[in-house]
Amino acid sequence: MPRSMAQEQKDILKQPAPKEPPWRTSRRIGIHTSTAGGVETAAERAYRLGCSAFQVFSSSPRQWKPYGLAASQCEVMSQLRAKYDLKPLVIHANYLINLAAVNARFYEQSIQAFRGEVERALALCAEYLVVHPGSHRGMTRDEGLARAADAIERAAEGLDVKKRGLTVLIENTAGSEFSLGGSFDQVVELVERLRKHIPIAACIDTCHTHVSGYDILSEEGYQQTMQYLDRTIGLKDVPVWHCNDAKAARGSKLDRHQHIGKGTIGPEPFRRLLNDPRTAHAAFIAETPIDEPGDDMRNVEALKKLVNDSSVTASKKRTPKRSTPA
Ligand SMILES: [Zn+2]
Ligand SMILES: [Zn+2]
Repeated sequence: MPRSMAQEQKDILKQPAPKEPPWRTSRRIGIHTSTAGGVETAAERAYRLGCSAFQVFSSSPRQWKPYGLAASQCEVMSQLRAKYDLKPLVIHANYLINLAAVNARFYEQSIQAFRGEVERALALCAEYLVVHPGSHRGMTRDEGLARAADAIERAAEGLDVKKRGLTVLIENTAGSEFSLGGSFDQVVELVERLRKHIPIAACIDTCHTHVSGYDILSEEGYQQTMQYLDRTIGLKDVPVWHCNDAKAARGSKLDRHQHIGKGTIGPEPFRRLLNDPRTAHAAFIAETPIDEPGDDMRNVEALKKLVNDSSVTASKKRTPKRSTPA
């Protein structure tokens, strides 16, 4: 079934609201959530999917023209987030933006579009705005990194990013040819360049980490990769993890997300990550495919079940018994 049809048939907002709040874990877990019907609708969806954090696009991810965002929508979003304790709200920037574009017109268009992303993230009171560092095709990698840093600085110029509590997160990428951010070193270079200008940190995607070549599969490989991440970016500067299994092999540089536990990563690396004391401050967001209706809720559940919480929470993991029919 095409993704859009699967989503349409299983839109959780068209089903009865849950009678009891969905169970939660000590770790903040969520999923990239549909904004069909308005960006603010995502908060109710995230709650019903059992999330304690969530990510959205604040506009169409593959169109330049942004949606208008009314003050009332932002208000509803904030009210729902407070009611359901949904934190953080992560915005993922548009995919068309290339902050390192060599073409001058495309570069300026990308800066303007990213400025719109920052403005909408501020309007929605989001905590984080995730962006890919871009493609350096036509330039050296170092030139591309410098250009991307300048673009982010310019896009945020004069906006109250710090005062309003928004942090821009540079996401590591799958490392395909010309794409910046395929190594932790490139991410940290951008973070370092931007630190004195805006609140900046990193978002680490498990699928991108794996296909770009880092070992997170074995216990030893996981520990080495985490130590390396800590030495470069610093684990405290990773407030958001994208939890995606992968369809492709380690080192393949192919960015194809798979359901949690069902791909070339498998469940164990996620279990380690979700119970690692060094990631206790972070939120974990799935960006998994929806191949069948209900895949979104199943992936949120899969992540939650990997968290080793106390027995009190564990007892809630069992599906509540339905009342016997009269
Ligand atoms: Zn991304
Ligand atoms: Zn991601």
